[in-house]
Amino acid sequence: MNRPLSIVTGASRGIGAAIALELSKIGMKIALLDSDKINGLKTYGEIIDSGGEAIFVECDISKVEDHKRIIQEAMHWGGDIRFLINGAGISSPVRDDLLKIQPDAFDSVMGVNLRGTFFLTQAVSIQMINSSSRENRAIVTISSVNTDQATVDRGEYCISKTGLSMMTKLFALRLAAHNIGVFEIRPGIIRTPMTEKVASKYDKRIAEGLVPVSRWGYPADVAKAVKVLVAEDTSFLTGTVINVDGGLSIPTL
Ligand code: NAD
Repeated sequence: MNRPLSIVTGASRGIGAAIALELSKIGMKIALLDSDKINGLKTYGEIIDSGGEAIFVECDISKVEDHKRIIQEAMHWGGDIRFLINGAGISSPVRDDLLKIQPDAFDSVMGVNLRGTFFLTQAVSIQMINSSSRENRAIVTISSVNTDQATVDRGEYCISKTGLSMMTKLFALRLAAHNIGVFEIRPGIIRTPMTEKVASKYDKRIAEGLVPVSRWGYPADVAKAVKVLVAEDTSFLTGTVINVDGGLSIPTL
């Protein structure tokens, strides 16, 4: 069977791993890109055990100079890239006052979340444009409710995610003529290793009514939204933003 190739960054754990498993279930072969080899091989094992096809490519997406090698490795294994899912991201190293953010912290968050994701998207876009395939193709970026909602003690994270939102609009326009759909998914408060340290704080805030659908989001909630965007040709929906946040971003009075 010739399965379409989907590249998923941040695929070792959390939201990225759930997306990789979901797309494998609908018949895609998955290039799992992540810096965490131990968990990456676990996700790889789950896909193989369930009858899917995958490759784990160890990489740090903030190292733009490695992108050519990463893409070549994925394509050598899986052929033309049909889908890119940008899931890799890091939180602010320290939750602290906006007035105390250090340049190193700012640069490392931007380097992964925005700069690395931007240049990987650029490199994959060029491959997609040059491909002779005219089958549906899509790029989906996992941003955050923080594109819009400000969390003052994680300023650099919020800025990086707002940048991804504009990135989605720009690539949607640039790739529209090539019939490549470009989408943004904005998760709310999702139970993953990233939110482990603040879990009790959000348990309390969710119990107090912060989220209209009164529960944590799960990685599978985000994965379902990705599936909707890639299972069929959705290129005419390009530029669409999907909130996966239980109603958190609905303005209320
Ligand atoms: P996570 O920390 O559990 O997983 C992130 C994955 O990205 C890890 O496997 C990590 O190894 C990988 N990664 C980090 N830096 C990398 C790099 N430089 N190169 C390659 N891989 C790298 O986080 P998560 O909660 O699953 O988040 C996934 C995405 O969703 C992130 O972009 C995050 O900002 C976003 N998001 C998460 C939440 C949430 O509540 N968990 C909410 C909104 C948005």
